[in-house]
Amino acid sequence: MTDVLIIGCGVSGAAAAMELSRYKLSVTVLERENDVSMGSSRANSAIVHAGYDPRPGTLMARLNVRGNELTRKLCADLDVPCRQCGSLVLAFSEKENGTLRELLDRGIKNGVPGLEILSGDEARRREPNLSGAVTAALWAPTAAICSPWELCLAMAETAVKNGAELRLGTEVTGLERRDDRWIVHTNRGETEARYVINAAGVDSDTVHDMAAPHEFDVKPSRGEYYILDKSEGGRVNTVVFQCPSERGKGVLVAPTVHGNLIVGPNAEPAPRHDTATTASGLDFVKETAKLSVPGIDFSQSIRNFSGVRANSGRDDFIIGMKAPGFLDLAAICSPGLTSAAAIGEYAVELLGREGLALEKKDVFLYGRKRTRFKELSDVERAALIARDPAYGRVVCRCETVTEGEILEAFRSPIPPRSVDGVKRRVNAGMGRCQGGFCGPRVVEILSRMLGIPQDEVVQDRTGSRILVGETKEVPENV
Ligand SMILES: Cc1cc2nc3c(=O)[nH]c(=O)nc-3n(C[C@H](O)[C@H](O)[C@H](O)COP(=O)(O)OP(=O)(O)OC[C@H]3O[C@@H](n4cnc5c(N)ncnc54)[C@H](O)[C@@H]3O)c2cc1C
Repeated sequence: MTDVLIIGCGVSGAAAAMELSRYKLSVTVLERENDVSMGSSRANSAIVHAGYDPRPGTLMARLNVRGNELTRKLCADLDVPCRQCGSLVLAFSEKENGTLRELLDRGIKNGVPGLEILSGDEARRREPNLSGAVTAALWAPTAAICSPWELCLAMAETAVKNGAELRLGTEVTGLERRDDRWIVHTNRGETEARYVINAAGVDSDTVHDMAAPHEFDVKPSRGEYYILDKSEGGRVNTVVFQCPSERGKGVLVAPTVHGNLIVGPNAEPAPRHDTATTASGLDFVKETAKLSVPGIDFSQSIRNFSGVRANSGRDDFIIGMKAPGFLDLAAICSPGLTSAAAIGEYAVELLGREGLALEKKDVFLYGRKRTRFKELSDVERAALIARDPAYGRVVCRCETVTEGEILEAFRSPIPPRSVDGVKRRVNAGMGRCQGGFCGPRVVEILSRMLGIPQDEVVQDRTGSRILVGETKEVPENV
C-alpha cells in the first residue's frame, strides 16, 4: 500500500509529488496519458503571473503570489527556461484606466511587489510597438515567462529521482473507501493508498465524485493561440495584456522563452478534451491582439494550438480535504501554472494536518541540468563531440538540437515515448519547419530506443501513429 497516491501528473500533481518526495513516504502518481504534462499544463500562455488579478483573500491570490516567487527560483534550480520580463496591462479608455487602479489596489492587497501605473507614453517608451491608443498601463515587474511543460517535467523528474513511482497509461476509474484506506480502481487493476490527491485537471470534478458528494462541475473554457516565428519574437519585450473581463485575462502578446511570439487566447466554452482550433477563434485573437500591438506580422505564424481551462464558476481554486484521506487540488484554472509550486507546498501542509506523518528524508536529490548544444561555445561543443560523437549529429536544424541531446533525454528519469515527448524535452521540432526535417529522424531514434518498429512510434498520445510501414534509407543521389 502506498502512503499517498496522486491522480494526474500536470503541474499540480507533479508539484505535490515533488514536495511529498522530500519526506519518508511512499508516493505513487497515476497518469492516464503516455507522458506527464498532457493536459492544461502543456497548452497555456506560459506566464508566471505577478498576482494582481485574483480577488484578495482567496486561496488563488495567496498561492499565485507565493507561486510566482517559488516558480522563478524553482526554474533556476531545475534548469527550466524562465525569464522575469515583467508585464503590462493596457488601458484604452478612462473606464479602463479605472480598471487598472482596481488591479493596482488588488495587487497591493495581495502583496505583489513593485506595481506601478504608467502613462500611455511611458508604456510606449518601454514597448515601442504598442498602439498609440493606449492611455495607461499597469507595470508588474515580477511577472515572468517560462516553459510550462519543462516545469512540470522537472518537478515530476525530481519526485521520481527521490523515490516516487510514476505509472503512465494508468487511468483511475473508481475510488472505494475500505476501513482506513482507499482502494483505487484503474484500467490496470487495483491499488491501495492511505491518502489520495485529486489533481485531475478538467476531470477533477469526475474524480471528486468518485470519493465525495457532488460539489462542483468543471465548465471547460478553451483558449486558442498563434505561435509566430522568431522573426517576430522581438515584437515585444514584456508580457502585454489587455484589461481582464469576466471571460478571462484577455488576449495577450508575449515573447516566449524559446524566442517566439505567442498571441492569444480567446475564451469559449468547449467539450473538456477538445483542443481544436477554429477559424473564428483565431480571427478573434488576431484582431484583438492588433489593438495592443498593431504591427504583428501574422504571416509569420508557424503553429496554432489551444488549451482547455478547468474553470468551475467559482472565483477560486477548489482545494481541501473532501473525504477522509481525500484531498482535492481541483478546478486549477489560471493562474494554476504560476501557483503549482505553492499548491504542492500547501498540499503537504493539508495532509500533515490530516495526520500524515511528515519526517524529512536525510537526502533529497534536487537540481537538474540538461545539455543545450546551441547555447555552447565552439570550444565546449568540440569537447562534447570528442566525448560523444552523437552530439556532433544535428537532428533538428531549426533549433540546432543534436542526437546526443535526444539520447540524453532517454537516460532521464522520465524518458520520452512519443515524437512530441522528444519535442517537449529537447525542442526538436519546435522551429520554423515544425518537425518537417527532423520528424523522420526522431521517429527512427524513438524506434531504436524504445525497441519498437517505426510504424508503432506515435506522434503524441497513445494510438497517434504516424507511419504505415518502415521508412527506407534514401540513396545519396536522389
Ligand atoms: C488557455 C490557457 C491559458 C493559461 N495560461 C496560464 C498562464 O499563463 N499562467 C498560469 O499560471 N496558468 C495558466 N493557465 C492555467 C494552467 O495551465 C493550469 O491551471 C494548470 O496547467 C493546471 O494543472 P493541473 O495539473 O491542475 O491540470 P492538468 O495539467 O490538466 O493535469 C491533469 C492531469 O490529470 C490527468 N488525469 C485526468 N483524469 C485522470 C484519471 N482519471 N486518471 C489518471 N489521470 C487523470 C490528465 O491526463 C492530466 O495529465 C492557462 C490555462 C489555459 C487552458
